[in-house]
Amino acid sequence: MSDAAVVDRVHVRAPGKINVFFEVGDVQDDGYHDVASAYQAVSLYEDVWAEPSDDFTMRVSGTVDVSGVPADDRNLALRAARLLAQRAGYEGGVHLEIIKHVPVAGGMGGGSADAAAALVACDLLWGTDLGMHELQRLASRLGADVPFSLLGGTAIGTGRGDQLSPALAKGRVDWVLVTSEGEGLSTPEVYRHLDRLRADRAPDIAPPRRTPAVEPGVLQALRTGDAAALAERMRNDLQPAALSLRPQLRNVLELGENSGALAGIVSGSGPTIAFLTAGPEAALELQVTLAAAGYAALHVHGPVAGARAL
Ligand code: ATP
Repeated sequence: MSDAAVVDRVHVRAPGKINVFFEVGDVQDDGYHDVASAYQAVSLYEDVWAEPSDDFTMRVSGTVDVSGVPADDRNLALRAARLLAQRAGYEGGVHLEIIKHVPVAGGMGGGSADAAAALVACDLLWGTDLGMHELQRLASRLGADVPFSLLGGTAIGTGRGDQLSPALAKGRVDWVLVTSEGEGLSTPEVYRHLDRLRADRAPDIAPPRRTPAVEPGVLQALRTGDAAALAERMRNDLQPAALSLRPQLRNVLELGENSGALAGIVSGSGPTIAFLTAGPEAALELQVTLAAAGYAALHVHGPVAGARAL
C-alpha cells in the first residue's frame, strides 16, 4: 500500500435512521442487550468531506447544535478513519470536515452515520478499496448502528443491532420528526433506566423475551407498503424509559397523534419523536401544526440509500 493519496477530496453523505420496531432483550453479563430492530434510513443526512493529511484531524459544524460533539479521537468518525488505516496498512492520515444535520444524541444514529461516511470517504481517498463486506466488518467494530448507516434502505438488525439483513419495503414513507435541539438523551442512560423499570416491574413494562425478534406483522406492513398497518405495529421498548426520563415528550406524541399522524414513536433512545403519516400532504400539514405549536418539526422520507460518495 502506497501512502500517496489517490484523489484530492471526497464528499460522502450518510443518512440518519428511525427504528420502526425495536425490541430489547434482557441485560447480558457484559452490560449490553440483545435487540431486534427494523431500521429505516431517512432523508436527513450527514455530510463528510475527506482530504489528504499527514495527521488525523477534523472539524465539525452543522445545522444542529454540535457543542456536544468532540472533534478529537473520541469522535466516532475519526476512530473509523484510524481503524481503516490500521486495517489497510495506510501510513498517511486524513482531515475530515463534518457538517451535521442529524440531531446530536437524538436517537437517530448521527454519530454512526459520520463513522459510516468516514469509512467510505477514506476508502475512496486512500484507494484502499476494501469492498463493502470488509467495510461492514469494520463498521460493526465501531458501533451497533454503523453497519446500518453503510447499508441504508430498510433492514432488520439482530444481536447488538449490527447483524443485518435487508428487508423488502415497498414505496415511500413520509415522516415528521420533532427534534429536541440541544437536549439529547444519553443512550446508555436510557438502557439503564429501562433495566430499572423492568427490575421494579413498572406498570406497562413487559418482561424481556429471551430472543428478541421483529414481529412478522411489521415485516408484512413494510413489504406491502401499508403505512396504516405499520402504524399499528410500530413499537420501541426504549420508549417507556425515554418518556419516563423526559415526560414532556408525551405532550408531543399526543399532539401529533391528535393532529393527523398515523402513529408516533420515540426514535431509538430518543428524544426525537418520529410521526408516521399517510403521505407527503399529510406530512406537510402535520409539520405546520407542530411548528405552529412551537416544536422543531422536519419532514423527511424513507427509505433512502446508505453512505455514498457524491
Ligand atoms: P444512537 O441512536 O446511535 O445511540 P444518537 O443518535 O442518540 O446515537 P449520536 O448523536 O450518534 O447519538 O451521539 C451520541 C454521543 O456520541 C454524543 O453525545 C457525542 O458525545 C458522541 N459522539 C462521538 N462521535 C460523534 C459524532 N461524530 N457525532 C455526534 N456525536 C458523537
